[in-house]
Amino acid sequence: MASIEFKQVTKTFQQNVVIEDLNLKIKDGSFTVLVGPSGCGKTTLLRMIAGIGPQTSGQVMIGEKDVTNIPPGKRGVSMVFQNYALYPTMTVRGNIEFGLVNHKVKKHERKQLVGSISKSVGLFEYLDRMPSTLSGGQRQRVALARAMVKNPSVFLMDEPLSNLDAKLRAQMRIDLIELHRKLGTTFVYVTHDQVEAMSMADTIVLMNKGVIQQEAPPEEMYRDPNNLFVAQFIGVPPMNISNLGVDHVKFGFRPEKLILSTSPIKSYFSIKGRIVTREMLGSETIYQIRYNDISFMAKSTEDKYQVDQDINVGVQAEDIFFFGENEERIRPD
Ligand code: ATP
Repeated sequence: MASIEFKQVTKTFQQNVVIEDLNLKIKDGSFTVLVGPSGCGKTTLLRMIAGIGPQTSGQVMIGEKDVTNIPPGKRGVSMVFQNYALYPTMTVRGNIEFGLVNHKVKKHERKQLVGSISKSVGLFEYLDRMPSTLSGGQRQRVALARAMVKNPSVFLMDEPLSNLDAKLRAQMRIDLIELHRKLGTTFVYVTHDQVEAMSMADTIVLMNKGVIQQEAPPEEMYRDPNNLFVAQFIGVPPMNISNLGVDHVKFGFRPEKLILSTSPIKSYFSIKGRIVTREMLGSETIYQIRYNDISFMAKSTEDKYQVDQDINVGVQAEDIFFFGENEERIRPD
């Protein structure tokens, strides 16, 4: 069992309360992504699981065990850091093996393990190379292999892809999903990038200022956000928000749910606006549209509309979200 649970956990740095009275259950075998803006407390949570930044009060459980007083090396967790933290004077083999030497695993067993794990992450031919001679993606794989070799019951990853270029990042996302499927181990992954969260997680925990805003599978987070913060954090470009001219009530609609047409749109709520900017991204085009004194974004698979063109914009009632005074979602009955 490698579920993780935070029970009324508070973390303070000096006098600064970063996390207060937090409760969270992470399911055994899940791929859970902690996401939120910079400084919201994601890394702090991860470090509490690892035991390298213990909580100020409350309890952290791994499986059935209260790990509050258990040192990092005895928690059955492995952590992969953003900067990989490889040993520069050791070969790839030495880096991967390092954790095992410490755990007194016999030499022939070590050799076998390093061999099979390096094959599974595509590093077998690189075992005798030094980290400085590897690409960013290869270094990242060494860091992963080094974590895997310890056969942890929980993998902790702190922005492990942020040093890679966009193409490699996309590939590594797929590799990590496959790795998770293969290992069946609990993955807890920290990122500030909602695209990473949406593409890899089976559960997203979205935080803001030390408080969990919503915990849900990616699709649910997108379809059924709890509040304005979640609605705007998930989705690219973010949800358009306006206040209807009604004090304190806001309404929102996603750029990709807008229908654009040069002729009037029937059976939708619609307005006539004007295109002010156009950004062609390949399969999709992002338009900024002005209507009276508001402007909003639309995302369309049609790239034929031009700047300064008048355009009808429609949205279906079911694609409009409402938020109340406290920014909580007002759901239809
Ligand atoms: P990022 O995405 O920028 O890494 P994060 O969500 O991981 O951000 P944390 O690193 O968990 O955020 O930091 C949460 C808050 O705690 C921040 O306000 C940060 O300044 C503060 N903090 C973190 N570590 C310390 C420390 N050692 N001493 C004092 N304050 C700290």
